[in-house]
Amino acid sequence: MNKQPVQLIFADTNHHYLSSKTNWHDLLALDWEQVSYIAIDASDIDDAYEALLRIRQLGSANIYLRPLIFISRESKELSWKWKAADGVINFKNEAQIDWSFWAEQVESYNRWIKKLTDEDESVDGHLTVKILRMLVSRNLIAEPLATTDMVSGFIYPKLQPFFTLKDMGVVQMLAYLEKQQLLIPSFIDKAHFCNHCDSAFLNFKETCPQCHSHDLETLELIHHFKCAHTADITQFKQNDGSLVCPKCDQTLTHIGVDYDKPSTVNKCRTCSYVGQDSEVVAQCYQCGKKTNSEHLEVRRINRYNISSIGINAAYYGLDTYFTNILETELQLLSLREFELFTNIEAARIERYKKSESSLAIVQLIELEKVYLALGSKAKQVFSELASIFKAVFRESDVITAYNESIFAVLMTETSKDSADIALNRLSESVKQLFSQNFDSLQEVSTKSILVNAELDIKRVLDNFLNAQEN
Ligand SMILES: [Zn+2]
Ligand SMILES: [Zn+2]
Ligand SMILES: [Zn+2]
Repeated sequence: MNKQPVQLIFADTNHHYLSSKTNWHDLLALDWEQVSYIAIDASDIDDAYEALLRIRQLGSANIYLRPLIFISRESKELSWKWKAADGVINFKNEAQIDWSFWAEQVESYNRWIKKLTDEDESVDGHLTVKILRMLVSRNLIAEPLATTDMVSGFIYPKLQPFFTLKDMGVVQMLAYLEKQQLLIPSFIDKAHFCNHCDSAFLNFKETCPQCHSHDLETLELIHHFKCAHTADITQFKQNDGSLVCPKCDQTLTHIGVDYDKPSTVNKCRTCSYVGQDSEVVAQCYQCGKKTNSEHLEVRRINRYNISSIGINAAYYGLDTYFTNILETELQLLSLREFELFTNIEAARIERYKKSESSLAIVQLIELEKVYLALGSKAKQVFSELASIFKAVFRESDVITAYNESIFAVLMTETSKDSADIALNRLSESVKQLFSQNFDSLQEVSTKSILVNAELDIKRVLDNFLNAQEN
């Protein structure tokens, strides 16, 4: 049996390319610019998805970005895998399929792919860039879908096929792209994840605070108005089902008249503890570990739009990304390493009381507009911007990028006054670079703080960011 699930539909002629001898090697050698879309036989959706996966995971944008359409005799589309394709053609009689319909629908995608590949075939093929390209070429908003098929519990069907098993999950990847300001989130849902294995499948259980048993029952409290006695319902209930107050022996007949039910209590069947306290523990279906619900990983599940920076990165790759350029000029530390350095410096200053060091924060305001305005020139501009950073700060200064437009610099052996002078020089040089060469303004916002033992870098950066946004 030589099953061949892939047909290629050519743009102008709607001619189908399909032969029993076609193999993956032939596919790679095709003139892809002539291909409008790939129609994949989806009589078995799992096979069809496998074929789609293989195409999306290839390295050439000419192929992996190409529109993929499932064709199917059935219209039962239960699995999320159906949503992984750009479209679905349902048919009763293959001869009646209008192949040109989808050719028109996906024409704008193909135009975008052509523009991209005309520009530069060699642009980088990082997973991040592939994701951005998928979104930009389709003008797509990444929509989450709840599923039991994945331990992550949520899936972004059109993006999932780009991921291999060794990549980080799609939810984490999108959160990372958001942090890099490449995507703009809007809130859809919140979910709890196991902090051992990242699974979203958790069994939440109320636990006895005394003996940690899960065998709790929830009981109603009864409050007898006349004598004010309050106890759980089992203390009142008789064998015949009637309620009699254990304190004053009266029969309770009418709720609201004789008694009310102010709340509930938990009763442990193991140790007989009765009370309103209980701990909620989540047990993971995947790894079996138990975690107190307060310690679970809580993530926002967002819908994502692409930002201007993201659109630029989709075209030109992450080489034009300012932090990447800065990285080659200066050694950028991770925020964690930066905090560590600063804490050591703070301890040193505290101990010897001989010198001062300053923390400088630099923000390039509305940098995303620069990305969009400069397009392919962004790389050149950002190289010059990086040179300014290099000229102003010293070899011994330590730098981190909080995000693509906010930077923190530990200026050792530098008073706050000297730090302000350096920051002024930086602002002026940046403004000059933009006004002289690109006929545009670039505002820079800065702040300096003396380093001491109380300094909390993350809080300072968060406050700085919030102050700028408000
Ligand atoms: Zn107990
Ligand atoms: Zn009573
Ligand atoms: Zn787990």
